[in-house]
Amino acid sequence: MRIVRAKALGFCFGVRRAIDMVAEAAEERGPIDSLGSIVHNPVVVDGLAAKGVRVVGGLGDVESGTVAVTAHGRGPEIEEETEERGLDLVDTTCPIVRKSQKAAQGLCADGFGVIIYGEEDHPEVMGVLAWTEGKGRAILDPEAEIDIPHRKLALLAQTTKSEQSFAEFVGRFVGRNIGRINELRIVNTTCPETDERYHAARELAVECDLLIAVGGRSSANTRKLAQTCADSGVETHQIERAREIKPEWLEGKETVGVTAGASTPDESIDEVVARLEKLAEMLHAKEQRARRLPLSNLMDA
Ligand code: SF4
Repeated sequence: MRIVRAKALGFCFGVRRAIDMVAEAAEERGPIDSLGSIVHNPVVVDGLAAKGVRVVGGLGDVESGTVAVTAHGRGPEIEEETEERGLDLVDTTCPIVRKSQKAAQGLCADGFGVIIYGEEDHPEVMGVLAWTEGKGRAILDPEAEIDIPHRKLALLAQTTKSEQSFAEFVGRFVGRNIGRINELRIVNTTCPETDERYHAARELAVECDLLIAVGGRSSANTRKLAQTCADSGVETHQIERAREIKPEWLEGKETVGVTAGASTPDESIDEVVARLEKLAEMLHAKEQRARRLPLSNLMDA
């Protein structure tokens, strides 16, 4: 049995950067309260907790000390409130998310309403919307009814959406609403890192008869990656940890592909590959024994 890793998988640069920044700050300044999980992955969250990084729901849960903004980013009010309260701020907002925030802010200042193609309750989307001063909203359905008060509209995307799905959204949305829009801006705020992972997963699917997508269950991009794998028609399982792999998944398989979301650490991927190798060896030994058995039975007779 062959075990193949996708050409692009695991931590993106934005997540690596955020983890390094928070770990370094915890070492230098002591305990840190992170506004939400630095990444949606329990392995990373546990590792950072051991270094003194505690996850809190919001600034209301912080009394003093240092606060971290995650790679998903937050609204402008966080900087203002931390300054007012004399809290130390470690802002790990990914530069690609920051670009999206700046675009949303600038467009609103120029009189555009902003529509984000994304999940309205995702931290990154909520953060970008917070820069629109109430002139933005997030939708997933291009058929959704929306208000376009000034006939000026801008379309952005949650960074983890694929370029293809954003293009489809734009086509359908504009087709439906063009009569109500005088001026339209489209800002491609999808992240090339996530698109690379989707593309590599599709490539991997061609040579595999089983796919394992590794990542936190609450990670939107890992879920999307697993869905991309499943859409290829190849049997797919999404797991958080190596111990979740069931030996029976491997029975009769020739090539197993491994991919991982942008918030999945290298060690989780290595553990999954090591477990797959071990299970493959065990399966091979079992098959060899089964093949030898009829021969020995013959000799006994
Ligand atoms: Fe940044 Fe892209 Fe990683 Fe999101 S997926 S943190 S946008 S590099």
